[in-house]
Amino acid sequence: MVDFIDVHASGKYGNAAYSTRDLRPGDIILREAPLLVVQPPPNGKGVSFLDSIFNAKNIPASSIEHEIQKLSPVHKAELRKIACEEDTDISRFMSCHYDIRPKQNEAPTAFGLFLKGSYINHSCQPNLLYFWDEKMESMTWVVLKHIVAGQEVNISYLPMFDWQEVNERRALLQNIFPFECNCMLCEKESSNPTVFAHQHKLRDLHMALINIASSQDGNTRSFSLDLQHLVGAYLAAITQELPPGQTLDPRLYRAYYLAASIYSQSGNPEKGVLLGSKATVLVDQLYGKHSPQGQHELEFCKQLYSL
Ligand SMILES: [Zn+2]
Repeated sequence: MVDFIDVHASGKYGNAAYSTRDLRPGDIILREAPLLVVQPPPNGKGVSFLDSIFNAKNIPASSIEHEIQKLSPVHKAELRKIACEEDTDISRFMSCHYDIRPKQNEAPTAFGLFLKGSYINHSCQPNLLYFWDEKMESMTWVVLKHIVAGQEVNISYLPMFDWQEVNERRALLQNIFPFECNCMLCEKESSNPTVFAHQHKLRDLHMALINIASSQDGNTRSFSLDLQHLVGAYLAAITQELPPGQTLDPRLYRAYYLAASIYSQSGNPEKGVLLGSKATVLVDQLYGKHSPQGQHELEFCKQLYSL
């Protein structure tokens, strides 16, 4: 197991997780087996990606209690340190669990609580990404940008790929968790009209390109100047959006795949191949191309963007 994480009081919002050393993009900061695992109710299967998050609310309390009862006294005591002291075991589980998805983008097959990982707080501009490693039966947290020793580490509790705006993100989060997000991006976006306008534009471009990529007439579409401008503006807007040094952001490789598919469908396959291979390099750095998770992600992108 890998563990470069230290947990201590943040002084602002309870406990938080911090890196114990300098790390580079692609490094693994933590690999951890779950402290306890709860199976979803039978009707929780086959739900959509976002629905599955809300569906987690339907985990029967009795299933959570049943699993907690199986823990040793030491682990029960550890569990009670996660989240707020006044939380019950059930609410602690609900606010701190991870979805266990053997394949990314599919409904979770279980929900897990982790001794270290469950302390990692949310940010809409996270510096970590995580995935379930089926072979190791553990969750793996990967570094997205350079991190220095002592720096707080964050994940995104929301799927990051839809480029939601601050109000949407806050509403989605508040549906699930009892907090209003005041991460650096939310603060900047809510107080600065320029940042908000940029996010808004990025989201519009993203949705427009998703619609184009999924339209049926893709094969007959010619690659117009308008479309070329749209793809160019989209990639430029994403590059501007990413925090400095965050070259491994998963949204970037999804964007490359999206652009690749539009180029490929529009009579410019060379450019499509170029962007597709750029995306593949990023997937490789993040997940390892030959790891199960890397394979799933590559397959998913190929299907999603019809490559
Ligand atoms: Zn936020």
